[in-house]
Amino acid sequence: MTLRGKTALVTGSTSGIGLGVARALAAEGANIMLNGFGDPDAIEELRRTIASTFAVEVDYDDANLMLAGGPGELVDRTNERFGSLDVLVNNAGIQHVAPVESFPLDQWDSIIALNLSAVFLGMRAAIPAMKRRGWGRIINVASAHGLVASANKVAYVAAKHGVVGATKVAAIEVANDGITVNAICPGWVLTPLVERQLKERAVAHGSDVTAESDALLAEKQPMLQFTTPEAIGAMAVYLCSEAARTVTGTPLSIDGGWVAQ
Ligand code: NAD
Repeated sequence: MTLRGKTALVTGSTSGIGLGVARALAAEGANIMLNGFGDPDAIEELRRTIASTFAVEVDYDDANLMLAGGPGELVDRTNERFGSLDVLVNNAGIQHVAPVESFPLDQWDSIIALNLSAVFLGMRAAIPAMKRRGWGRIINVASAHGLVASANKVAYVAAKHGVVGATKVAAIEVANDGITVNAICPGWVLTPLVERQLKERAVAHGSDVTAESDALLAEKQPMLQFTTPEAIGAMAVYLCSEAARTVTGTPLSIDGGWVAQ
């Protein structure tokens, strides 16, 4: 129970990786602020289940982090609701797949706003109170695409490379304030974000989701298996631990060998 009495805000935690991270931090005793979109009844069920399973306080905030005011207001409300924000996990993200020459400007703007600007705005809002308390953990969920590129993902790859850069800058600035800032760089994780891509590929290639899933892994990951949200949660717990107190400014890959190639 390394995080008993601490509060973690996990953006985009109604689904996928964010939900896995929220559960893992709750299992270590952290109170949790959930955020993201979805069916209100299903989110309330998630909130109650995490609270009762791990005996922690859990609240939910529906802030839209694509809006410039969203991340800062969410951080402020979390500080007010729980009295502190000790662990900030910037996880919310979206994807759009198209070649550069036909990539829609509105998709570019949306991806940069959520996948990159919201990370900056969240860190900017969270750091002052973390500094005053002399302890903080910021974990930015980047991607293998924060380190290497793939075709047809110009906004996503640009945003995720930006997240890795912003992580390094923030880490240096708060190096002597008891705060670490790191990026987790997953390869393929089977979440709704990837399931949508698999369905689109199946339609485009006249195949099925299983065949596309095998092809996706074979293209990029020497270890032909998906990483799980639980494994990413465990990495986030490690980054919050005492053992990781000098791990900072680092992109940590969890990608089945993707970027080793
Ligand atoms: P997901 O679609 O399952 O979850 C995304 C979450 O973000 C959801 O909770 C959604 O409601 C929330 N969200 C979307 N728009 C939002 C907005 N405007 N404001 C607030 N919340 C919003 O996706 P995922 O695969 O779990 O992705 C989570 C993160 O992991 C993303 O940053 C993604 O880029 C990154 N990532 C995913 C993979 C993968 O293979 N799935 C790999 C590398 C990195």
